Amino acid sequence: MNNSGSGDPRKNKKKNSGPDFPFGGPRLPDFKPFKGWKFSIVYILILVVGMSLFNYVFLNRVNPTIDFSEFKNKIVSGEIKRVELTDSYFTGYTTLQRREPLPTPPLRNPYAAPSDAVYRTVPINDPEIIKLMDEKGIAYYAVSREGSTILNIIFSWVLPIAFFFFIWRFLMKRLGNMGGNVLSVGQNRAVIVAEGDIVTRFSDVAGVDEAKEELVEVVDFLKTPKKYTDIGGKIPKGVLLVGPPGTGKTLLARAVAGEAGVAFFRMSGADFVEMFVGVGAARVRDLFKQARDKAPCIIFIDELDAIGKSRINNIAGGNDEREQTLNQLLVEMDGFDATSGLIILAATNRPDVLDPALLRPGRFDRQVLVDRPDLKGREAILRIHSSAVKLGSQVDLAAVARSTSGFVGADLANIVNEAALLAVRGGRQLVAQKDFEEAIEKTVAGLQKKNRIISPHERRIVAFHETGHALVAAFTPGSDPVQKISIVPRGFGALGYTLQMPVEDRYLMTQDELLGKIDVLLGGRAAEELVFEKISTGAANDLTKATDIARKMITDYGMSSRFRNVALTQRGAGILGPQAPEPMFHREYSEATQQYIDEEIAHIVERQYAVVKDTLGRNRNVLNRVAGLLLEKESLDEKEFKELLEQG
Ligand code: ADP
Ligand code: ZN
Ligand code: MG
Repeated sequence: MNNSGSGDPRKNKKKNSGPDFPFGGPRLPDFKPFKGWKFSIVYILILVVGMSLFNYVFLNRVNPTIDFSEFKNKIVSGEIKRVELTDSYFTGYTTLQRREPLPTPPLRNPYAAPSDAVYRTVPINDPEIIKLMDEKGIAYYAVSREGSTILNIIFSWVLPIAFFFFIWRFLMKRLGNMGGNVLSVGQNRAVIVAEGDIVTRFSDVAGVDEAKEELVEVVDFLKTPKKYTDIGGKIPKGVLLVGPPGTGKTLLARAVAGEAGVAFFRMSGADFVEMFVGVGAARVRDLFKQARDKAPCIIFIDELDAIGKSRINNIAGGNDEREQTLNQLLVEMDGFDATSGLIILAATNRPDVLDPALLRPGRFDRQVLVDRPDLKGREAILRIHSSAVKLGSQVDLAAVARSTSGFVGADLANIVNEAALLAVRGGRQLVAQKDFEEAIEKTVAGLQKKNRIISPHERRIVAFHETGHALVAAFTPGSDPVQKISIVPRGFGALGYTLQMPVEDRYLMTQDELLGKIDVLLGGRAAEELVFEKISTGAANDLTKATDIARKMITDYGMSSRFRNVALTQRGAGILGPQAPEPMFHREYSEATQQYIDEEIAHIVERQYAVVKDTLGRNRNVLNRVAGLLLEKESLDEKEFKELLEQG
């Protein structure tokens, strides 16, 4: 019941996206758990086993160890002629000649002569043994293992390092698998879809004809940019798709890429917001770099609000990371040349929270509304989604569309799928009408919980309310023509809307025109009261606006009888500057004046309301006719509305 369509934002941010392929669509095999995992474990095992083998074979040619006493006996008996002392072993040789260490890794202990018989024992701290060897004239010497051979270096340094490197790699890989992409800072995760991969076409999207029309132009930009640049025109850089969840924004973006046959980079706003400050910004930079290389192409940023939230609202405790990311996005958007064939699409269901900087010219200066489908649109969407489903001959998709008022494309896709499942469960070969009915019922129950379904009686009220706005607009001279009337609940809180298009840009308004605006705003409630003899809360927004205009007429524009040509509010520039919200204005009038203002507002509104109700009363026939058709078709365009008016 929103005259201009700028009602309250929906608080409901929840996504409601149905399956892309409602029934039997292609599915890519993506089942490959722990691929890197097995690999690493095998490597490590091989490494460990290999190391011990190397150790065994090359380093310690293991000789049978003998008892210390036996070793000593062999010294005494003179069998051992030479002793090598290390920390861990005493090794006795039966020859005196000591060989030089071999330059290449030997298969045996480097100090052992080939013919040596070797005895080895674990040393005991026995001072006697040195004395004994001295007495016997045995050559003894200590050997330090460290740095004696290349092999030693390899085993004591290179291999352990390699080992830890592998362990580290393995752990990193696992971390990576778990999604915590700690090391690949700045690498973007955009799925780069090659040209041929996008099979989505505009024909896969229905019920959003206005949006499609605008996007057809974008496709043309991408296909033949020269046509536009030759004439000196600027190709838009950014197009923002705005609409409630599940209305097909993502689908449309894909369709644009598919139709234009260009590469499509898709990222969700949430992908940019990471643990670490600076990562998001780096991702943005990366994404644009890649995209520039692939131009012409489309960058699609889904859920733009995740990074594009207004920076103004968080003076205290702002999110640094998000802000940096947003700034980087702005920089990149300003940075590329519109002729480069790069177009950025973005989608959001919360346009109201976006940072104004994003919407400035040269950025997302085009906004495309992707609205909930009306009756005809819903039928078309149902057709698309049931094309792959075997329908019984008696299935009436138009009837299904009629009973799914307020449903978005994703809901409808879901219903078709649900109906097909019900048919299978019932053991039927074809989907029957009653499957659809049951599927609708199921979905409605869910949607009712989310307050998205209105009752038939409420729909009637909304229809008459909106017709009231439209008729008053039509009857008020100088009022902007009605472009569209709709009782399809609009995303952002409004139950219906009447769209008026100004014929020309206006900077000044006469007193009569202001009163005319008040009339149109009051038309909704007046129609309700006339038809139902009851009034509802549906007009709250209208009344706020009407009251506001009336107040301004008195306090700002000097249009009241007592304070003719007197401005009662002082437009002082407060600390926040001239754009300060209303309460920042000084009130420089007495209580008595305030009382007069209140009364005068009531007076103006009451007077206009009476006029409006009278006008509508005299045109009750038209009112009924328009509201009737509106209930049936859910939305009327300018032409249909005019025809009904002319029938008198
Ligand atoms: P949004 O991005 O607006 O939340 P999606 O594009 O993700 O919505 O839509 C989800 C699914 O719902 C689509 O994949 C498609 O199957 C279906 N769908 C939504 N809107 C439409 C539409 N207008 N026409 C056809 N199918 C639609
Ligand atoms: Zn209204
Ligand atoms: Mg989406």
